[in-house]
Amino acid sequence: MKTLPEIKSSFSQLIAAPSISALEAELDTSNMAVIELLHTWFTDLGMQCQSVPVANTRNKHNLVASFGQGQGGLLLAGHTDTVPFDEGRWSQDPFVLTEKDNRWYGLGTCDMKGFFALVLEALKELPMDKFKRPLHILASADEETTMNGAKAFAAAKSIAPDYAIIGEPTSLKPVYMHKGHLTQGIRVTGRSGHSSDPAKGLNAIEVMHLVTGQLLKLKQHLTNNYREDAFSVPYPTMNFGHIHGGDAANRICGCCDLHIDLRPIPGLALQDLELMVANYLEPICSQYPGSIHVAPLYPGSEPFADNKDGSWTQLVAELSESQPEVVNYATEAPYISQLGCQTLVLGPGSIEQAHQPDEFLDLDYIERTKDLLKKLIYQACIK
Ligand SMILES: [Zn+2]
Repeated sequence: MKTLPEIKSSFSQLIAAPSISALEAELDTSNMAVIELLHTWFTDLGMQCQSVPVANTRNKHNLVASFGQGQGGLLLAGHTDTVPFDEGRWSQDPFVLTEKDNRWYGLGTCDMKGFFALVLEALKELPMDKFKRPLHILASADEETTMNGAKAFAAAKSIAPDYAIIGEPTSLKPVYMHKGHLTQGIRVTGRSGHSSDPAKGLNAIEVMHLVTGQLLKLKQHLTNNYREDAFSVPYPTMNFGHIHGGDAANRICGCCDLHIDLRPIPGLALQDLELMVANYLEPICSQYPGSIHVAPLYPGSEPFADNKDGSWTQLVAELSESQPEVVNYATEAPYISQLGCQTLVLGPGSIEQAHQPDEFLDLDYIERTKDLLKKLIYQACIK
């Protein structure tokens, strides 16, 4: 085995390698610097590494590192990218690992490049010659924007692990379920004209009034007919978040935009939800042909649920000494679970620090995470 970096060195190198994902091209950064570091380290550990370009990204790759023969085994998955940072609100350089108050500060320490450094630490201490089932590591691209890395990896079905852990910051508690997320923009295009004769135009605000009426009916339908009591808000939600229409009191409003946010529970796929919105708006579309246009504002993410009573959930709960939980944020879990593996989200650090200025990982997590990863790998691949 080649000489691998110490934990603080590997952590620092990952934080120093920019890998910002943004829908805006001017902020978006390739993740290749992170992929190359991981490729080197996992190759030096004796793993087979493959760097795969991801379609519909700006020069980004997934890395898959595998060790051991046979079927099944464990997948440890994480994303290589971070969100953009708000320069003025950081107390130190986001790309320089800074130790202070028993914490490591830096962009991606907790969400979640640091996870890969901890996987490396765990593997250094495991008997690599005793593996009976394979261990796979996925380092994915563009989780923070489109999840195209995880989607492409799931679609390729190149591996079929028994179990998966996604190392997002859950304070090392196993998460077996979360809601999905869909945002939609609804634009009503009317016909403008002088306010003195409303019949000469088509008032977009009046048509939008009909639209919001139908959407409120759908909102009630979702509340009445879908339920998952594990969530504190146990039904799919719909929020009207933004509306804008018209420009002057004496003009017929020619255009009105509404932005809504929908959060489905497991069992309600984004495609079905989009269809429901379309069906509820259909009577208005028929009445005013060509005037209503619905489109997603951002890429959505599917809801996710694994089995709370499943063998993997129970084992991980026991080893982590934490009850299985549900959360309110989206992850790559719905895509990873398409490989057919029992899938949980579990990683060091708190979601409270993710996407925040002065992101940090509490140093108490270092040993605890390494120990837990060693136990999980042992159970899934060695025992
Ligand atoms: Zn994350």
